[in-house]
Amino acid sequence: RAKASPGETICYYQAGMDEEARHRRQIANELRHALARDEFHLLYQPQRSLRTNQLSGYEALLRWRHPRLGQVSPMEFIPIAEQTGEIIKIGEWVLRAACAEAASWPSQDKVAVNLSPVQLLQPDLPEMVASILLETGLAPRRLELEITETALISEKTRALHSLRRIKALGVSVAMDDFGTGYSSLDTLHSFPFDKIKIDKSFLLQSGESPQAHAIIRAVLALGRSLGIPVLAEGVETMDQLQLLVDEGCDEAQGYLFGRPAPMQLPGEDQVARRA
Ligand code: C2E
Ligand code: MG
Ligand code: MG
Ligand code: MG
Repeated sequence: RAKASPGETICYYQAGMDEEARHRRQIANELRHALARDEFHLLYQPQRSLRTNQLSGYEALLRWRHPRLGQVSPMEFIPIAEQTGEIIKIGEWVLRAACAEAASWPSQDKVAVNLSPVQLLQPDLPEMVASILLETGLAPRRLELEITETALISEKTRALHSLRRIKALGVSVAMDDFGTGYSSLDTLHSFPFDKIKIDKSFLLQSGESPQAHAIIRAVLALGRSLGIPVLAEGVETMDQLQLLVDEGCDEAQGYLFGRPAPMQLPGEDQVARRA
């Protein structure tokens, strides 16, 4: 952007901030009604084992369709919901919906559900997970919870205690977006994660960036030495897939195998689903 005098910069910045703040306030307000108005739904993206070339599960991804704002990306509304605390109710809805839907699949595929750091700090989270499993009848081994490292930074002891209780139910726990947080190695050492998900930014850059490729290789070596399977996010091309296979990656997820999509059940055609 063109150089501005300090005064101009501040003016421009503040105008932008007002606009931005108003938009965020609007999102925050609309989010408070979104559950009651039934504006959320889940899409599912397949995860594939590179060892057996079989489907290993699906990640549930939240979508919000607002009548006036249209589709709002989770990258935009989740951080706002975390600030307002609305994520607690939304996150509970996601978990219940994902477990209920997965329980009705004809297969025994796993479902991976994203958990916000805010949810992880709720003292009754393990009880909530347990009661949703009971209520929906989903076998605990079919549920995986994905958490990011940021979840473990602020109140590590409490968060880890909560995760241990969740694991004791038979639910598995994956570390999401690995490599983008802070204390990766320390966190991995303190908690028995069942899976490491390498953040998609590394694979997306791996073609041009030897550094990104080196990081993928290092994470795979780390996973092997800790005995934790590694999944790579963001596989879009055959070249990226080949790289992962060559480097011995365990699992992968990305547009190459499938975009997030509504779960298609047998006997349910597109027309029925849209109705
Ligand atoms: P995430 O958990 O890391 O999910 C993966 C994101 O990468 C998804 O974006 C997915 O659509 C996208 N993706 C998958 N494959 C590819 C690919 O090959 N290339 C590229 N460029 N992208 C790919 P999405 O659905 O927009 O979600 C963004 C983030 O929002 C998620 O990142 C997660 O942090 C958050 N999120 C989504 N649903 C939920 C939810 O139910 N609860 C919470 N707490 N967070 C959620
Ligand atoms: Mg995730
Ligand atoms: Mg991720
Ligand atoms: Mg992410």
